[in-house]
Amino acid sequence: MKYYSTNGKAPLADLHKAVVKGLAEDRGLYMPQEIKKLPKVFFDNIGDMKFQDIAYNVASAFFGEDVDLDSLMDLVYDTLQFDCPVVKVKDDIYSLELFHGPTLAFKDVGARFMARLLQYFIRQEGSHEQVNVLVATSGDTGSAVANGFLGVEGIHVYVLYPKGKVSPIQECQFTTLGQNITAVEVDGVFDDCQALVKSAFMDNELNQHMKLTSANSINVARFLPQAFYYFNAYARMKQLGLADRLVMCVPSGNFGNICAALFGHEMGLPISRFIAANNANDIFYKYLQTGKYEPKPSIQTLANAMDVGDPSNFARIYDLYGQSHERITSLISGATYSDDQIRETMRQCYKETGYILDPHGACGYQALVDGLKQGEVGVFCETAHPAKFKEKVDEILGIDVEIPERLAAFMRGEKQSVPMTKEFADFKQYLLSQ
Ligand SMILES: *Cc1c(COP(=O)(O)O)cnc(C)c1O
Repeated sequence: MKYYSTNGKAPLADLHKAVVKGLAEDRGLYMPQEIKKLPKVFFDNIGDMKFQDIAYNVASAFFGEDVDLDSLMDLVYDTLQFDCPVVKVKDDIYSLELFHGPTLAFKDVGARFMARLLQYFIRQEGSHEQVNVLVATSGDTGSAVANGFLGVEGIHVYVLYPKGKVSPIQECQFTTLGQNITAVEVDGVFDDCQALVKSAFMDNELNQHMKLTSANSINVARFLPQAFYYFNAYARMKQLGLADRLVMCVPSGNFGNICAALFGHEMGLPISRFIAANNANDIFYKYLQTGKYEPKPSIQTLANAMDVGDPSNFARIYDLYGQSHERITSLISGATYSDDQIRETMRQCYKETGYILDPHGACGYQALVDGLKQGEVGVFCETAHPAKFKEKVDEILGIDVEIPERLAAFMRGEKQSVPMTKEFADFKQYLLSQ
């Protein structure tokens, strides 16, 4: 399969190149040239299939031309060593829990899949040179990427994060791992971390010294595997006899997760319609209302993994529907919630149902409460375990959220990080000495 750039000015790339490069030369996002429809018999039987087998079928449609099928099977099973259950919250509203992976948030799937796919291509090349992944994080991405790449031979990961700006629960998920993961604690803000990574990619001397690549969330190997979740959601709802008029609601920030769901829809997944739930960063919501896409600086909110003022994957959605506002609005609607509304939703839902929402999932849940029509059944993504945002959730609900053992284990680990200034010269010197 070849991949083209959404900006249309870069040469076509094969999967290997699209994964290693991340972004196309014209700074556009890679899109597969073809989206294969899955056969009717697959959908007829999907209710009896388990998550891993469903995912393998989906992965074959995307990657089957470029990865031999035994390796792909191995890769999918290695990535999905956990479940993705659908849980009834109330009435016709169900939660798709995407937080049963190693770092308790949905980005685990894409990060692990990408790590293994990159390793597959490195092995195929027969190269013994170490590949170095640089990633800047404000929290969630760093933990997902670090854990996804942990122990993957031939690849070393440097996670750059802003000192004192990442919650202790998030920090321990990438600073206590050791092995092939190095946490770099930058005396600056997130933007400084990102600037260091960008400068490193552009520095000739550094690139001659070592092989550098990114694990950005726009990478095709990170965003496409998220489609697995939606096929599984459909399967589980079909098993319950509730899949006839399914509405899928996705709390969205950079729009990678919902974009993967829309790719699923293009492959024939019978979802009636989609809702993109935003926090106060309502750029996509405004686009749906007005037809104008107007990026803004992001606003800090309670659902901080969705604080994005210029969602990268909008370009993919726009391209997928031939830049037609009409086609987009006929399939996708929006919602936007302030921090006060998020708090109120979390309290209300807990009181009524006992279900503990995290601030991201709360946007999704409320969008279904507000938007579901008679006869429809709604599934929202619960994108993170509430314990990941324990400080906030405890305060809002007046409870003591239980910390799952996996997270507790990270918290017992010893923090190891390399202190770094925000000067590129210092970071470069450090990398050159590795
Ligand atoms: C990353 C993230 C989101 C937003 O997902 P996008 O793919 O960027 O739209 C929502 N919730 C949580 C917990 C996240 O980590």
